[in-house]
Amino acid sequence: AEDMEYRLRTGAVVDETTYPIVPHMRSEEARLETFFSWPPAAPVRSQDLAQAGLYYLGYDDQVQCFCCGGMLCGWEAGDTAWGEHTKYYPNCFFILGHDVGNVPFQG
Ligand SMILES: [Zn+2]
Repeated sequence: AEDMEYRLRTGAVVDETTYPIVPHMRSEEARLETFFSWPPAAPVRSQDLAQAGLYYLGYDDQVQCFCCGGMLCGWEAGDTAWGEHTKYYPNCFFILGHDVGNVPFQG
């Protein structure tokens, strides 16, 4: 995957109260529902993306993090949702394990 360079912050110290960037996508179930039109041939599963805080933007294979607002696209075989999110947005509070209001999917 590649960083779309839409990142909304630089990794400098930020005010945690401004996160998550996209509060209505705090719920993993809500994120999962955005993937109804996810390309079936994409090498990363929608369940894994949703679990990693990402939701589908509805075109190509572009996803965004509910917390940091970081966007990722161009998923390749071998990529993992957590791996790419961590690689490009290592300062994301969700990635870092902060409580940003994520609501895990309850099966
Ligand atoms: Zn993030």
